[in-house]
Amino acid sequence: MHRGKNFARGATIALARASVLILFASVGCITIQVAPTPELPAAPTQNIPATRAPIAATPAPPTAAPKVEPTRAQTPATAAGNLPAAYKKFASTVSVSIEGDFVVLKSNGVPDHPSPYFDRSDPRYAAYNGTNRNYQQAPGKISEQNLVLRVPLNPQKAANPARTQLGPIGMAINGVAIFNQFQAQNQPLGNEINSFDQFNGHPQQEGMYHYHVEPLFLTAKNGKASLIGLLLDGFPVYGPEENGKTITNNDLDGFHGHSHATSEYSDGIYHYHITAESPYINGNGYYGTPGTLDRGQGGQPPAPPGAPPVGSPQPKPGGRP
Ligand SMILES: [Zn+2]
Ligand SMILES: [Zn+2]
Repeated sequence: MHRGKNFARGATIALARASVLILFASVGCITIQVAPTPELPAAPTQNIPATRAPIAATPAPPTAAPKVEPTRAQTPATAAGNLPAAYKKFASTVSVSIEGDFVVLKSNGVPDHPSPYFDRSDPRYAAYNGTNRNYQQAPGKISEQNLVLRVPLNPQKAANPARTQLGPIGMAINGVAIFNQFQAQNQPLGNEINSFDQFNGHPQQEGMYHYHVEPLFLTAKNGKASLIGLLLDGFPVYGPEENGKTITNNDLDGFHGHSHATSEYSDGIYHYHITAESPYINGNGYYGTPGTLDRGQGGQPPAPPGAPPVGSPQPKPGGRP
């Protein structure tokens, strides 16, 4: 865009200014991502060089975010046909595009099913009607997020597998975040399970709805053997049944998966399975090399007063820088 020589100089300058605007807008977006919460510490990939801080302090104009979207969306138009079939199972509310060696999944993270975690005035609100007699609604409501996952287009087994982090480790085909088997401070899910709604999800402190276990809405709708989503390493997640048989942890390796052909991958692929017992979706980390996660802005509700202090996220050995 800057190759114009002596002609069209004015246009070149205008373009350069537009680029600067977009840069500012991008920096602005990234800045807002870094506020961590107890359950969702900032991912290591969100670190921003300190030198950018002064720029980031400039508030982005309200119209900035939409300006950035078309820029990113251009890339994939012709490449969409190359997407593995699994990506075609994602809901139309999820933006799926290819950027280089990565598939970019963007979602607002809001479930496509009712929940007691919508506001009572919201038509999507539904009182709890699940089977857990110990259900106890947690504080907080669902709010829109700005989830951006970049997952490898051609997932590869990792030479040095990384642990999963708190916060999103993948995305379900309805655009809802998938979390691992831990709650805040990397503690096993305990009483938190009792706050899962009738579809097995709940929001964290910033209103990000997520599943730690089987998303009952998806398996009821698509079947217990269906594709549930993908983890950040690009490997797919399937439901708790296969060939009419319920999968148990004993059928799976330490990462909670195994390899064979599936409906979406006729040549065979490594894939995770959901089981009814811990660790539910993923075991000892990513089987493959994970891509990156941006949380963008979102989650309007501030943490409630008296919320537990934010645990300092520990970078995992072998994790991404
Ligand atoms: Zn949770
Ligand atoms: Zn399988």
